[in-house]
Amino acid sequence: MESGSKEAEVNNLEKQWSLDDFEIGKPLGKGKFGRVYLAREVKSKYVVALKVIFKEQIEKYRIHHQLRREMEIQTKLHHPNILRLYGWFHDSERIFLILEYAHGGELYGLLKKNGHLNEKQAATYIASLTQALAYCHGKCVIHRDIKPENLLLDHEGRLKIADFGWSVQSSSKRKTMCGTLDYLAPEMVENRDHDYAVDNWTLGVLCYEFLYGNPPFEAESQKDTFKRIVRVDLSFPLTPYVSAEAKNLISQLLMKDPSKRLSLQKIMQHPWIVKNADPKGMCSK
Ligand code: AMP
Repeated sequence: MESGSKEAEVNNLEKQWSLDDFEIGKPLGKGKFGRVYLAREVKSKYVVALKVIFKEQIEKYRIHHQLRREMEIQTKLHHPNILRLYGWFHDSERIFLILEYAHGGELYGLLKKNGHLNEKQAATYIASLTQALAYCHGKCVIHRDIKPENLLLDHEGRLKIADFGWSVQSSSKRKTMCGTLDYLAPEMVENRDHDYAVDNWTLGVLCYEFLYGNPPFEAESQKDTFKRIVRVDLSFPLTPYVSAEAKNLISQLLMKDPSKRLSLQKIMQHPWIVKNADPKGMCSK
């Protein structure tokens, strides 16, 4: 069976899956709410990642609604840079999410291993993220929790956004605090109304972190990070390997006024992206 038709077998939202449909392989990782295993669907032999979440944990942390929302949003999103959620099932104690397998693991690992990424890698990932976010925004989904830990890589080095736990499907402006501090836009820190432009800000933070190894507003305490974000206290370390064009893109994304931030369409036309990003979104490590 070809990979595409194997995927179609697993990509069946109507089917009532159970653990008997899968052979379980090695553990891939451990998250806050459960473990992830390599697994293979018995009939098609299609390889997936199976995320196991204990119902007890869901009750303890009261994340029932969040998980439901994550699952509903992620099953509807079909984009090469968004991790597929093929389906889910449960038994008396556990919930199982059938996920696309990302062979390359976390982008965070690559970043920490190398200290920082080169301009070609960084631009390729920013372009992939921009395209995935344009797709999400077109479907009225704001991610709001994009950070290197939520970005996985497939076997060809292609970026996949995972974890839609904090995303919201909305066409109106939102006003709830969420997300991870370092990646929060000023309007979220200040608990003001926010919209799609929060994701554009996060692209600026990530672009900086990819190139320099640390997020731009990092500080000793949460309070100081808050202050730095609100002031847009941005400075570029003196390093020979980051070009002026890259800094220009970052500066145009980290604008306090959300309406002044570079649009997703303009990011794709930015000279640094045009010059450095791989059109197929593939990166060598
Ligand atoms: P999570 O619970 O989603 O934070 O996942 C815990 C860890 O498992 C992650 O940090 C990844 O290293 C790994 N992992 C999660 N999902 C996948 C996947 N679809 N493919 C490969 N590894 C994964």
